[in-house]
Amino acid sequence: MFCFQCQQTARGTGCTASGVCGKKPETAHEQDVLTCEMIALAAVMQAKGLNSTTEIDLIMDGLFTCITNVNFDTAKVAALAGEVKAKREKLGGGEIMQPEALFSGDEDIRSLRSMLLFGLRGMAAYAHHARVQGKRDSRVDNWFIKGMAALAQNHPVDGWLELLQEFGGINLKCMEILDAVNTGSYGDPVPVQVPLKIEKGPFIVISGHDLHDLQMLLEQTDGIGVNVYTHGEMLPAHGYPELKKHPQLKGNFGTAWQNQQKEFQDMPAPVLFTTNCIMIPQKSYADRVYTTAVVQYPEMIHIEADEKGRKDFSALIVHAKKLGGYPEGKQLAGINGGFTMTAGYGRQTVLNNAPAIIDAVKTGAIKHFFLVGGCDGMHTSRSYYTEFVQQAPKDTLVLTLACGRFRFNDLDIGKIGPFPRILDMGQCNDAYGAIQVALALAGAFKCDVNDLPLTLILSWYEQKAVCVLLTLLSLGIKNIMIGPTLPAFISPNVLKVLIEKTGIGLISTPKADLAKILKK
Ligand code: SF4
Repeated sequence: MFCFQCQQTARGTGCTASGVCGKKPETAHEQDVLTCEMIALAAVMQAKGLNSTTEIDLIMDGLFTCITNVNFDTAKVAALAGEVKAKREKLGGGEIMQPEALFSGDEDIRSLRSMLLFGLRGMAAYAHHARVQGKRDSRVDNWFIKGMAALAQNHPVDGWLELLQEFGGINLKCMEILDAVNTGSYGDPVPVQVPLKIEKGPFIVISGHDLHDLQMLLEQTDGIGVNVYTHGEMLPAHGYPELKKHPQLKGNFGTAWQNQQKEFQDMPAPVLFTTNCIMIPQKSYADRVYTTAVVQYPEMIHIEADEKGRKDFSALIVHAKKLGGYPEGKQLAGINGGFTMTAGYGRQTVLNNAPAIIDAVKTGAIKHFFLVGGCDGMHTSRSYYTEFVQQAPKDTLVLTLACGRFRFNDLDIGKIGPFPRILDMGQCNDAYGAIQVALALAGAFKCDVNDLPLTLILSWYEQKAVCVLLTLLSLGIKNIMIGPTLPAFISPNVLKVLIEKTGIGLISTPKADLAKILKK
């Protein structure tokens, strides 16, 4: 096997014997076969000018399946590859790229091709979430065909860079439609303090990004005495009025995904994984793990949608009642010992407060904005993000999004006027909202986004971070700092080009980076 798509890849170069994430070589192989089949399906669709949503949905879900910590079920991945193969053959598609060729060849071309593939995997997750709520966009759909077909074609370096630039713009559109469907269905997020206390009695934990799954679970737990707690990237759900109106949505369980094996072991409740990041379930809680959508793990109970997209969560509810929850309320804490986390500073709330924020900048109360966001992960060097936020001067505001927030979102670092100094804007796809806020500030100050007192400090782990990064770069946002390590799939030459064009750089230490950014 060879896989180097995520930040925790072995030795910082690639997983070869088995995945650090737990992915087995046979699963990796089937994912590569699936990817090659999807490329061939896209190629025949492009050649014949076809754009049926049935095939596009298959490609979308196949890409989503290959995201890190999503699907560990070799047989299910192989079955999906078979489904794609049958569609390809029916459409008359022939030539197939060999799985070994996916990640081989010229180092720089391999780097650029991988970046596009991994970006497409990330965007597929966002498009899937919008699609299950009835929203899609033909430009995004068609780009799955264009992008996947491009992976088997020869392009010069400049051609690949143009594709990546175009892809970044399409992913912005994709995040926009997801923002529209989330806010359209559940309202604009409003600020809320999310407790980390688990009340006594039966409960269910729901993890991942799929707000539609949470909505269905809440509708099915209304008035039956079973509470619901978010986990990981589901935390921002508390800000949405139409989800929050269900009184059994009580709070958040635990911290970021990489702590689940420890945090779930004594949990007297079932957990539902709606997206990444599922880790190898430990014996102590494996019988309480449920999966849905493209998330699968061998022998775990999988809940499928019916033909109308409805899911029946009664097995989870029965299980929660049987386990009974904690006999007394149990206080949990964030990684810094805090008992609450703030959520709900979504795009519209921040924009509604733009006049006050602009005044605060003009009076000097806010000297700099940091967007400290992205994925969390295992590496101990990720303590950088906690220390960065702790050391950021008191006249700076920290915007955050995605599960990297758990490094510091239980800290109380004070307020500037009415605003807490940490504003949680939502899930990783809510990078769309952060971009709108940056554009609005640039408009108000009549300057370019790059001239704002704003620095992006990103943490990356999996492929959604890749598509978000490509979007930010396609918008011309410069001097982004990423960590905790550079992606293994970026070759030295490609890195050189990116640095020259965008000024992107690796984080160093909080003290040195803050001094450099604030020129102190
Ligand atoms: Fe390795 Fe990451 Fe690939 Fe898993 S997803 S096999 S950890 S590179």
